[in-house]
Amino acid sequence: MLDLLQRIIQEVNSAADHGRALEIIVRRVKRVLHVDVCSVFLVRPGTSELLLMATDGLNPECLFNVRIDFNEGLVGLVAQRAEPINLEDAPRHPRYKYFPQTGEERYRAFLGIPIVQHRKLLGVLVVQQREQRRFDDEHTAFLITLAAQLAGTIIHAELSGGMDALRLGSDDSDLSIRGVEGAPGVAIGTAWVAYPSANLSAVPDRVPADIKAEVRLFQDAVQSVQTELLRLKERMGRILPAEERALFDAYIMILGSDALTQRTVEGIRAGKWAPAALRDSIAENASVFDEMDDAYLRERGEDIRDLGRRLLMYLEKTPRQSGEGQPSKLVLVGENVSVAELADIDPDRLMGVISGRGSASSHVAILARALEIPAVMGAVDLPYGRLDGREVIVDGYTGRIYLEPGAQIRVEYERLQREEKELSEGLAERAAKPAFTPDGERVPVYVNSGLLADINVAFMAGSDGVGLYRTEFPFMVRDRFPGEQEQTRIYRQVLESVAPRPVTLRTLDVGGDKTLPYFPIEEDNPFLGWRGIRITLDHPEIFLTQVRAMLRANVGLNNLKVMFPMISAVSEVDEALALVRQAWSELVEEGVEAVIPEMGVMIEVPSAVYMAQTIASRVAFVSVGTNDLVQYLLAVDRNNAQVADLYRTMHPAVLRALIDVVHGAHAAKRTVGVCGEMASDPASAILLLGMGMDNLSVTVSGLSRVKWMISSFTRARSAEILESVLKLEDPVMIRETLNRELVRAGLGGLVRAGKR
Ligand code: PEP
Ligand code: MG
Repeated sequence: MLDLLQRIIQEVNSAADHGRALEIIVRRVKRVLHVDVCSVFLVRPGTSELLLMATDGLNPECLFNVRIDFNEGLVGLVAQRAEPINLEDAPRHPRYKYFPQTGEERYRAFLGIPIVQHRKLLGVLVVQQREQRRFDDEHTAFLITLAAQLAGTIIHAELSGGMDALRLGSDDSDLSIRGVEGAPGVAIGTAWVAYPSANLSAVPDRVPADIKAEVRLFQDAVQSVQTELLRLKERMGRILPAEERALFDAYIMILGSDALTQRTVEGIRAGKWAPAALRDSIAENASVFDEMDDAYLRERGEDIRDLGRRLLMYLEKTPRQSGEGQPSKLVLVGENVSVAELADIDPDRLMGVISGRGSASSHVAILARALEIPAVMGAVDLPYGRLDGREVIVDGYTGRIYLEPGAQIRVEYERLQREEKELSEGLAERAAKPAFTPDGERVPVYVNSGLLADINVAFMAGSDGVGLYRTEFPFMVRDRFPGEQEQTRIYRQVLESVAPRPVTLRTLDVGGDKTLPYFPIEEDNPFLGWRGIRITLDHPEIFLTQVRAMLRANVGLNNLKVMFPMISAVSEVDEALALVRQAWSELVEEGVEAVIPEMGVMIEVPSAVYMAQTIASRVAFVSVGTNDLVQYLLAVDRNNAQVADLYRTMHPAVLRALIDVVHGAHAAKRTVGVCGEMASDPASAILLLGMGMDNLSVTVSGLSRVKWMISSFTRARSAEILESVLKLEDPVMIRETLNRELVRAGLGGLVRAGKR
């Protein structure tokens, strides 16, 4: 059964379009389970109606015509209950309803399985049989597994292939894809898909600039793969028996066949770029074998896909001009958009980001916020291959994406964009001034930075300095560790542009979701593994090079602070401090006028919360990294969209931990601030102020908003609000209380800026 299931899923996933994917499901299920009918009904968006989208067995003329309300019939009952219904003699059930167009009266046995994703009912999968019988457990288990695995594909069908059929007068606004909020704001632009290399099914549709050149590209790729196969055959000739070597001949033969190459060339001539034409001809050729009963012949389908991947690799090696064909208002889309992919797009074109994986705390989202680019993360149901070139709206506030939106939605979002612009312009002035509470206390507000320093210089003008400079970004966009001189230059540029205000450079914090292409780390649980200070203490040569560069960059400026990430034990602080002193004394010996900078520790691991006083007493300051602290306290992966709803910065446990850190640091007579994203959310920042945090370090987009909040709330008032929300147990109620406080203070415009 498992083997059958995998084959169906593979076949469905490589279907040329989503209408065809549904057809494959019904056809294959009917055959595999030896039933008389298999049908898929999908929920019409925004209604409580199911529409027959595919069937093998019922009258094909009733496709898209049979509509069933959740209150009607057995299919409706499956939807209503969201559980399987297995009936020996369906017509005898009180909910049985006869739909004359379907010819259904002939079928007695009925098994309906709900198709559910993220607690949402998408449709119902039904099998039926003429004679009276009860489907056995194995049938039910098979269909439940299939429905669960295909829910994503079915959503794609809803969103692309079957969209028109589904629309049928329904409310446009429901045809959105749900992700999670990544970076606030609204973007309207054209999707540009960054797809993983050598992944045929992820290749997006694109139009080639020059068809002849595109055909040549493909023919060159065929030539190269042929040469490579001949070379492999020769090399294996000495090792493999003749029958095994025949495989290479088979590959070479398929490559030379019209079915593959000619079909691909035809596809290009019909207006597809070579990778998409190849994707389609491979899917077509492979599916012929997939349907065969003979296991040996079925394997040939895999051979064809393997050949396809090889050809695609060659096509991808061909340098296309950077920016070739890119839309001027570009929304970057990818299954798992990386920092490097984002940094690669011309910032003038980049309007928005959509990533299938990740959440608001992923580093790509943090980077998007720094660049003030709206982003939606965790949009698992994206039909990537079919998005390229289509208009999309990215709603970074609610985590929704609209594909080819209707006029009404577009107008609404354009209005929102205008309002946003007005609010930002109104706030810009505020960002430039220091933040005072209504009773005159000055609260330092720093900014977080890390990518191209120059982007943020203008905004830095209004801040009290840089509270967190993530040094790993320059490491991530290179193909080797940057040397001491190179790093000195980068840090000097930042320190100089912000001087005399302070800059807190954080030592290298890689591991977790931040990997360096040239320093791969393979771990089962990367966030609980070799990360941050753990790596740099194990590699003192990397740590010392970095600290030396920082100290050199600081000569004559003296606005450097150094901060250590991922500290989970006091001994790590002692070791890091000792290494900084070592770097300093080496430089002094070399005649460099280095000074020992102020040093601090990030509190982002629960053990550090409990040791806050001891840790703080060893350094000059501590800064809470709430992005990690929340994930470790609540055991919720910051990158996992599946559990994004559980990632709550306003969880009472988080608030209590933060209060403990403030007490610990103040008992040690040290300053304490927050540099995690929580500080950038005006509602949360009220609580941080109330706890007694000495400073906040925020994203560029949060600067003016948080300053506005500070100018409206005294410490005493914030402390009162904190006390009242600590009586609440539910993070959602805490959020609502704070939103009400913002509105009451006349800051309603800030309410939308954060949801968690
Ligand atoms: C944090 O964890 O809150 C933090 C600021 O560091 P990063 O997001 O880079 O892990
Ligand atoms: Mg962190």
